[in-house]
Amino acid sequence: MTGSEEIDVQVDEPPACGVCGQPTLLRIGFPSAWDNARGQEARGRREAPVCPRCERGVPAAENLLALFAVDARGGT
Ligand SMILES: [Zn+2]
Repeated sequence: MTGSEEIDVQVDEPPACGVCGQPTLLRIGFPSAWDNARGQEARGRREAPVCPRCERGVPAAENLLALFAVDARGGT
């Protein structure tokens, strides 16, 4: 078990958006904790696609997308 507390970003073949069905630019994986059905704390990781359409207005997502949008656009 290493790196379970880290956030990772995947830009290779991110999944389609679960909301609008359009391709996403990237996918993030992040640690998550929640209470399970017995009221015990469970820990794991979650992954979420970051959709340029649906995540508009979410500051954290917009910052990420802005970074990658600059890359994707290239020069000029
Ligand atoms: Zn979407």
